[in-house]
Amino acid sequence: MKTHARAVVIGGGVVGVSTLYHLAKKGWSDSVLIERKELTSGSTWHAAGLLPLFNLSYSVGQLHKYSVRFYEELQKETGMNVGFSKVSNIRLARTKDRWDEYMYYAGIAETIGVKVNILTPEQVKEVWPLCETDGLLGAIQHPDDGYIQPADLTQALAKGARDRGATIYRNTTVTAIEQQADGFWKITTDKGEITAEHVISCTGNFARRTGQMVGINVPVIPVEHQYIVTEPHPAIQERRRQGLPEMGVLRESDSAWYMREEAGGLILGPYEVGAPACYVDGPSDDSEYELFQEDLDRLMPHIEAAIVRVPAFGEVGIKKVYNGAIAYTPDGNPIVGPAPGLTNFWLNEGHSFGITAAGGAGWQLAEWVVDGEPTVDLMGVDPRRFGPYATEGYLIAKNEEAYSNVFTMHYPDEERAAGRPLKTTPVYERLKTLGGVFGSVYGWERANWFAPADYELPESERGVGADVITNHNYAAPLEDGRVVEKWSFRRSNYWEHVGNEVRNVHENVGVLDMSPFAKMEVSGPGARTWLESIFANAIPKKRGRIALAHILTPTGGVRAEFTIYEWSPGRFYMVSAGGLEAHDHDLLWRLAPKDGSVILQPITQKFGVLVLAGPRSRDVLKTLTRTSLETKDFPWLTAKPISVGVATAHALRVNFVGELGWELHHPIEMQTYIFDELMRAGAEFGIKPFGIRAMSAMALEKSYRNMGRELSIEYNAFESGLDRFIRTDKPFLGRDSMLKYKQDGVKWNFVTLVVEGNTDVDARGSEAIYDETGALVGRATSGGYGWRIGKSLALAMVKPSCSEIGTRLKIKILGTLYDASVVAESPFDPDNTVLRG
Ligand SMILES: Cc1cc2nc3c(=O)[nH]c(=O)nc-3n(C[C@H](O)[C@H](O)[C@H](O)COP(=O)(O)OP(=O)(O)OC[C@H]3O[C@@H](n4cnc5c(N)ncnc54)[C@H](O)[C@@H]3O)c2cc1C
Repeated sequence: MKTHARAVVIGGGVVGVSTLYHLAKKGWSDSVLIERKELTSGSTWHAAGLLPLFNLSYSVGQLHKYSVRFYEELQKETGMNVGFSKVSNIRLARTKDRWDEYMYYAGIAETIGVKVNILTPEQVKEVWPLCETDGLLGAIQHPDDGYIQPADLTQALAKGARDRGATIYRNTTVTAIEQQADGFWKITTDKGEITAEHVISCTGNFARRTGQMVGINVPVIPVEHQYIVTEPHPAIQERRRQGLPEMGVLRESDSAWYMREEAGGLILGPYEVGAPACYVDGPSDDSEYELFQEDLDRLMPHIEAAIVRVPAFGEVGIKKVYNGAIAYTPDGNPIVGPAPGLTNFWLNEGHSFGITAAGGAGWQLAEWVVDGEPTVDLMGVDPRRFGPYATEGYLIAKNEEAYSNVFTMHYPDEERAAGRPLKTTPVYERLKTLGGVFGSVYGWERANWFAPADYELPESERGVGADVITNHNYAAPLEDGRVVEKWSFRRSNYWEHVGNEVRNVHENVGVLDMSPFAKMEVSGPGARTWLESIFANAIPKKRGRIALAHILTPTGGVRAEFTIYEWSPGRFYMVSAGGLEAHDHDLLWRLAPKDGSVILQPITQKFGVLVLAGPRSRDVLKTLTRTSLETKDFPWLTAKPISVGVATAHALRVNFVGELGWELHHPIEMQTYIFDELMRAGAEFGIKPFGIRAMSAMALEKSYRNMGRELSIEYNAFESGLDRFIRTDKPFLGRDSMLKYKQDGVKWNFVTLVVEGNTDVDARGSEAIYDETGALVGRATSGGYGWRIGKSLALAMVKPSCSEIGTRLKIKILGTLYDASVVAESPFDPDNTVLRG
């Protein structure tokens, strides 16, 4: 066995071997893969091999697209047959909401370049003659999709990697992993030791065990997944004899199953409710090619539904049932990227569609390891989207939930119930009493909106029945039994209530709990110099000034965004999005000097944040503090500690809603006191709580950008329109690239669009945008309704030639084309007069 390698990949499933292949392809030929048994002997060998391109995540969608194209090339490159049957993939729709979901997806597919056909029920029958089409609205079809032989694919990847000089050790178990003082990793195996600069964990169902070797919690616990293989069916055999094409992969999402031909018979794979988590402590040491006892009872409703749709399935006997472990994460997406808190330790874990994702995930992770950044925005699969709260009990609850929701409708406003409420702020109960309807971000409960007392959805709105099983998710009732929310791709019942919240903030005053904000204090003798060196914006020299500042990638993409305020001499208070806490804090830790000159102290849990906003906010706060709140003494974009009654808070004169207001960052233990005082003092000024949805609607009217949408590593900071936050007259990360863009120009421009003619739907982000000739010229990144200006809005990235104010464009929302025009940034209060008032 070698004693040294540039990178060691642990795990010889399809994901590990693809990672090795791509490392070797990027020139790291001295990389090694270690597999405890035979290649594919984990989950890979028993996978059904489907390659679904369908995915509602822009990042995962791009990974899948790459895989499907790459697998065909791999076959040519290695001369090994990977068994790729490009038979197409058809997803049936039975309900209007499902159709909306497919039309929403079709927009994402178009913007990432994945071909999608729309089929009528008659066309479905032509492609899949054994499928009954009663009750179908239609279907979408991926012509480039199909299935592959997972074991053959893995062997071809192994050949490709070996041909490029990489080494694979089979029947070798990694037993310990330790980082040495020189930064190199010592990997101990039952066959000897090897040191490496980088370690990449691709250990499938063993992920948590591997994580434990290096002291991290990998949020992966598998769930049992079954599929059924039938005996041959005469009608399918006859089709074969006649040389007719294979019927493709059929999915009836509304009954949660997929089906395809297999050796003259059929494969049926349901995603049922009640599939249990498994291997909670990892598989046994001798686990290899392992299957569990089948449980057909659990699948019965889906089998019956499948027989209604494809009666032929009920006409043949069952040949074999595969029940195997499928890795899951709380949101069903994999974990690809750096392990938080460790240097040069990477994760490519948690793959539930690993055959499909392996190519793309291996490609992007190899770029990240070798080049320091991927080229696709991987926020949706970044290991740091979960925090330390995602431990065993949470993972079991959430991963089982994620599995059972694979085929439910993925409403953009859906808030799943498992593992909640987990993290609550002190005012949670008060907000609940006031009608708060909660969602969850990073384990925190946040009020999305406030339902009026006694408000209830009409009975007829509460759910759509479907035959056999519904497979539709509905919002859970409030504690008192009222159902107040209907999830939808369109404007839903809460829309007008959100509008009322906006109106109250705009006309009177509102209060919003933003305590989940991620917070860090940066101090130490080197703090200022270090911050100056990493952030693209200048760190304010004057104490009390607030800066919005970004950390860029070497190519000028936006990696993170922080609000920075020097709250006491040499101590910097840094606030960023609550959902990005692990990511942002890990990033700071990676960049910080390790010589003790800079001290990072995470303080998220110590401070609560109540946002007071609206024209009467000054009147309210004035009654609770002696500090002058007049603009001459307390201008916009400044902050200072103030008293709030007998409590204390740092008041930051900023907000994400574009109204006069202050964010009160206070010791968390004083939160209920401050909240009660604000509500008491605000009563005469019409104070009411407002939620995240009202905040987002108002942010849209100010053209405020969000990480993971308008701000991403895929767009450079000029493309995202951050010019005023980029100070090229000083050093910062990514400066060279930014100077180059200044000279060479950009490929995209950030624009604000007013959408016209839409009456029951707004853009959500990911819609395709066309010029007047019908050419695709960009994509929406956010969208919604601007209540203060009374217009439907979208934020978008478009070709520079289409970004002039007044340019007429078209935007496709849920399959319908609407007119849109480019308007000046911040359609509400463009001069910030209200904010500065
Ligand atoms: C019934 C079923 C059907 C499926 N169908 C599909 C499908 O149609 N399409 C699709 O895309 N996905 C499908 N999947 C999912 C797919 O099987 C997985 O996502 C994929 O195989 C994951 O690959 P992997 O490389 O991450 O994990 P694995 O294949 O499990 O590989 C991990 C490897 O790591 C090794 N390892 C672990 N610890 C160590 C150690 N300490 N030292 C050395 N080696 C170690 C293990 O031995 C194992 O070989 C299905 C899953 C199931 C259960």
